[in-house]
Amino acid sequence: MQFNMNLPGLEEVKITKTEEMNGSFYLYIEIPRKKHKCPACGERTNKVHDYRTQKVKHLKVFERTSYLFYRKRRYVCSCGKRFLEKNSVVERYQRHSIEWNQALVLRVIKGKNFKDTAVQFRTSQTTAIRRFDQISAGTLKEVNELPSVIAIDEYKGDTNEGKYQVIIADGNTGKPLDILPNRSVETVKNYLREKSSKVKIVVMDMSHSFKSAVRKALSSPIIVADRFHFCRYIYWALDRVRRRVQGELHPYDRKK
Ligand SMILES: [Zn+2]
Repeated sequence: MQFNMNLPGLEEVKITKTEEMNGSFYLYIEIPRKKHKCPACGERTNKVHDYRTQKVKHLKVFERTSYLFYRKRRYVCSCGKRFLEKNSVVERYQRHSIEWNQALVLRVIKGKNFKDTAVQFRTSQTTAIRRFDQISAGTLKEVNELPSVIAIDEYKGDTNEGKYQVIIADGNTGKPLDILPNRSVETVKNYLREKSSKVKIVVMDMSHSFKSAVRKALSSPIIVADRFHFCRYIYWALDRVRRRVQGELHPYDRKK
């Protein structure tokens, strides 16, 4: 059997057979034979040396785990070089298809948690976490020196180091630069002392712990309250005034 239907990630391949076994779905695939450039001498060849079948875990099909049996072709050149055909299905030394890996990358970011994502993809939690680390490593590079404007805020991350972590961002672009393991004054102070020789302006909320850490670490920083927190303080102040004024009024006027 051969079908021409295009399946995501498998546009390039020819499906030669499908079968269902023990609740799993198996797709037998190969790539049409075509001329390849020899990696050794540059000549073009389509002379087949041999085939080897590789089992690759793929995405779920109708909620069933699917596997690809990929019949990998090796070509041989007139210079004697043997090499694998190019393919868009699976990378070298991988047991999962490229499509599966990409789907996991999306899921590991948007998913509820690592455990749930791992179950969805029928893989281990370690694999899901490793994937996440690979992606995040590219977005958070180690910062040696902070820019002149930074923003500091805390968020609830629940790590081994504490319930709250501190995020340091570029104050102009809003791009996250670093994450501190906890929000203690010591941690914030030590971090800033090391990396903030250029910092002139710090945008942050008005909590006292941060402010004292920033003051201890920097010589004369300009501290700017961020708009959200600033508005909250204004509201509280206004509310206190309202209560005080109302408290001075006669009950009749107060209700009015
Ligand atoms: Zn060659």
